[in-house]
Amino acid sequence: MADKITVGHVHMSGCTGCLVSLADNYGGLLTILDKYADLVYGLTLADVRHIPKMDVALVEGSVCIQDKLSVQEIKETREKAAVVVAVGGCACYGNITRFGRGGQPNQPQHESYLPIGDLIKVDVYIPGCAPTPQLIRNVCVMAYLLLKGNKDQQELAKKYLTPLMQLADRGTEACGCDLMYDVVNQGLCMGCGSCAAACPVRAITHEYGKPNVNREMCIKCGACYAQCPRSFFNFDVIPEFEGIMDAIDAALK
Ligand code: SF4
Ligand code: SF4
Repeated sequence: MADKITVGHVHMSGCTGCLVSLADNYGGLLTILDKYADLVYGLTLADVRHIPKMDVALVEGSVCIQDKLSVQEIKETREKAAVVVAVGGCACYGNITRFGRGGQPNQPQHESYLPIGDLIKVDVYIPGCAPTPQLIRNVCVMAYLLLKGNKDQQELAKKYLTPLMQLADRGTEACGCDLMYDVVNQGLCMGCGSCAAACPVRAITHEYGKPNVNREMCIKCGACYAQCPRSFFNFDVIPEFEGIMDAIDAALK
């Protein structure tokens, strides 16, 4: 077994739900920590006070730019981590913190919250509010195979991670409107309903077989667009799907 990779959980303005989702892998998480990854930082779980050097930073939450310490921490994370992963809708897109307006005690000036990609370069997105345990697990296993695997495993990992890297390159804004602009308006929607199933607040209904978004309900998490099979459908990944799943199953045995 090759050396483990080092992983940290960096908590910005998040709710810890993404970390709970990671923990919801139950035995799978213990296998990852046993065989593949050393958790070197994570204020919820480990008594390490300062951000160390690490292979992979799993960042949860957005950044309050009126909070100097938060801005400093996200920049330090980028300096110390080889790979930065935005975990969850807040880190990727701002999510519910997009609605922050300040004015509340005891920090009424804390009014501007930005997704981490607006302050640093982000390598991989794991969207969702909360993201699924399986997706976080898959990215952890694939990061290990990419950094420590043999040539074939590295190729497989690259294929798996490419769409999530492309999502990170696409930008930091998300809304149910993405389905209109980037799928339906492009003539790509096939009415499968995956977007409605993915929405955590049930803001999407289907009218005449196409999605209809209630924008008053949308919390701007980006799950619907990320889940849509016509959004960033990747021809490198889909034919490899069984191989990828077999590799993950084998890794977690
Ligand atoms: S997931 Fe995409 S293709 Fe499917 S109904 Fe929604 S917008 Fe259309
Ligand atoms: S419509 Fe639902 S899934 Fe899409 S961004 Fe809004 S809250 Fe998220």
